[in-house]
Amino acid sequence: MRRVLILGGTAQARTLAADLAADPALEVTSSLAGRTAAPRLPAGRTRTGGFGGAAGLAGWLREQRIDAVVDATHPFAADISRNAADAAASAGVPLLALRGPGWTAGPGDRWHWAATVAEAAELLPALGSRAFLTIGRQGLAAFAGLDLHLVARMVGPPAPPLPRDLELLLSRGPFTLAGERALLARHRVDVLVTKDSGSPATAAKLTAAREAALPVLIVRRPPPAAGTPAVTDPAEAAAWLRAHG
Ligand code: NAP
Repeated sequence: MRRVLILGGTAQARTLAADLAADPALEVTSSLAGRTAAPRLPAGRTRTGGFGGAAGLAGWLREQRIDAVVDATHPFAADISRNAADAAASAGVPLLALRGPGWTAGPGDRWHWAATVAEAAELLPALGSRAFLTIGRQGLAAFAGLDLHLVARMVGPPAPPLPRDLELLLSRGPFTLAGERALLARHRVDVLVTKDSGSPATAAKLTAAREAALPVLIVRRPPPAAGTPAVTDPAEAAAWLRAHG
């Protein structure tokens, strides 16, 4: 029996865990950060909470005699990916990154790119005055000083500082195109702000924005950890694990 760690918190990580759950040759543990109060749990074993940096993760890999790691965390979760690369190298465990592709603009899209959430907040006032933010609760503080009407959708409640003119929508995807169209109209949104997660579960808002000819401000992904081999599909990660796990 080979022991595998999936660093998770994403739909792709859950797909991979479900795919591997019935494999008698693998013992799979999925790890969650523990940020969400009632997370969607993957199939199989789970553990929750930080490891204590790269050194803590390396110690955990050795202690648990892990044979292979898949970093299937969100493309914007850069710290854990860097830690995974350092820890896997120091514990001598093979590591694979599982990351779906980012979004690509099509005809009719009015996309503007920002390098960071903070840069998106700087660029936003020039693009609209009623913004729909889907950048997660950790990014909301960057918009706190803006004098705009902000509708922000996220899974759990954010911590202060909060923008003055804020409507919070607490909900979790997937979101339908009909629902996104209705939301943009109901809140009279004139600009969408998002991160390039590339997730199909949350892509309908981009179609709704295109249909309404709205500008979209997209935060670029941070660069992936250098030197980590990567695949885009859970099935490819499963094949890699069966070869390396
Ligand atoms: P981050 O900034 O890269 O990580 C911060 C710290 O959280 C890490 O150093 C680690 O603590 C702990 N951590 C993160 N992911 C972990 C995991 N899967 N298992 C155990 N510990 C983990 O990450 P983040 O942006 O806060 O995201 C946290 C989690 O939410 C990630 O697992 C990610 O997949 C998921 N998520 C993030 C986003 C997003 O937009 N950032 C969106 C959807 C889901 P230690 O140093 O103590 O080990």
